[in-house]
Amino acid sequence: MRSIHDNLQAVRERIARAALAAGRDPLTVALLAVSKTHAASLVAQAVDAGQRAFGENYVREALEKMDALAENLGKERARALEWHLIGPLQSNKTRLAAARFDWVHSVESEKVARRLSEQRPAGMAPLNVLIQVNVSGESSKSGVAPEQVAGLAEAISSLPNLKLRGLMAIPEPGGDVQTQRLRFSGLRKLLEQLQNRHATLDTLSMGMSDDMEAAIAEGATLVRIGTAIFGTREKLRPAA
Ligand SMILES: *Cc1c(COP(=O)(O)O)cnc(C)c1O
Repeated sequence: MRSIHDNLQAVRERIARAALAAGRDPLTVALLAVSKTHAASLVAQAVDAGQRAFGENYVREALEKMDALAENLGKERARALEWHLIGPLQSNKTRLAAARFDWVHSVESEKVARRLSEQRPAGMAPLNVLIQVNVSGESSKSGVAPEQVAGLAEAISSLPNLKLRGLMAIPEPGGDVQTQRLRFSGLRKLLEQLQNRHATLDTLSMGMSDDMEAAIAEGATLVRIGTAIFGTREKLRPAA
């Protein structure tokens, strides 16, 4: 296997190529390194290679890793990292999520949003949140239906300790490029509609190792990349 440093370099090049092919400035596409199931020592290698933003799916696993990194890198360097929760969030985990993450991509209910706002510790900047949208219909259970997005956005924008930044989606895997682009353009159009009422929305979190080119072609501002950086995952942990 190539080193994490080389993998990151290759991913940055893929992003740049896809952005340029779409007539976009590569700097408008942020890279989130998805480190779920991978050890803190591998995250530290990515940090050494210049990566700063990391995505995790499970709150407890993420917290352990953040603590291990504070040891490994030192508190000062660990503080400069940015943590994004991208997995489903149950309401009994919102307190920990609100205290330790900078972003939550997977908000699907007003209840969870309200708890995150109430539980965001005083003195911390507002928590950046995205609404997760189901763009694949029947074949996916995660995310709110497109027609529910406007109402949830309205509710979130009234919560004092959250900052609604945009939308996130995980299309069904295995689609051909046409289908991928259709899903991603659907999410972009939803964001464009929302921007009429919520001018500060600026984030489209879409695209993973296998479909980042299609996502960037359709306007992704943040791609979530795991396998292409850290290699294949041993197994998926049960949701925790
Ligand atoms: C695991 C995961 C990713 C990364 O997927 P890869 O195919 O490994 O790049 C991105 N987004 C979410 C929500 C994930 O759960």
